[in-house]
Amino acid sequence: MITHNSLETFDFAKKIAKNAKPSNIYCLIGDLAAGKTVFTKGFINYFSKDLVVVSPTFTVFKIYEINKNNIERIYHFDLYRLKTIEELEDIGFFEYINDENSISIIEWGDIFIDFLPKKTKIFKFKKINDDEREIDEYFGN
Ligand code: ADP
Ligand code: MG
Repeated sequence: MITHNSLETFDFAKKIAKNAKPSNIYCLIGDLAAGKTVFTKGFINYFSKDLVVVSPTFTVFKIYEINKNNIERIYHFDLYRLKTIEELEDIGFFEYINDENSISIIEWGDIFIDFLPKKTKIFKFKKINDDEREIDEYFGN
């Protein structure tokens, strides 16, 4: 699908969030400024308007307490700066993504795509021009 501005990407993510189930894992793929963080903001906004979502580019991940639709937490990762599987293990990545009561959203998950579970839902973001983004959903890796 094509979104024509960041609000449309935000709203698209809210619709995805409405159908999200505990243990779901979302891998967001696409270049810088493709809209991965905007998508995550919309996704989390569906659960709470009060949560302030900031890009975890420098912190690698952030945890949001949800407690809605049987979802306890959302783990939001940005793996852009990680290089090795050891770094991923060191932050507890696999314990988090295997939390059956929570959801994981992983920006730049393609760097470690072979280590993500088969059930991972993949969204690819492509910048068409300043305001338009193509977003395609894939299941499995
Ligand atoms: P990423 O996390 O993929 O690096 P961000 O979501 O942080 O990207 O940034 C996307 C940037 O592109 C924002 O500045 C946003 O305002 C802008 N933008 C313009 N059009 C769109 C669109 N259709 N969808 C999402 N973001 C858009
Ligand atoms: Mg981002």
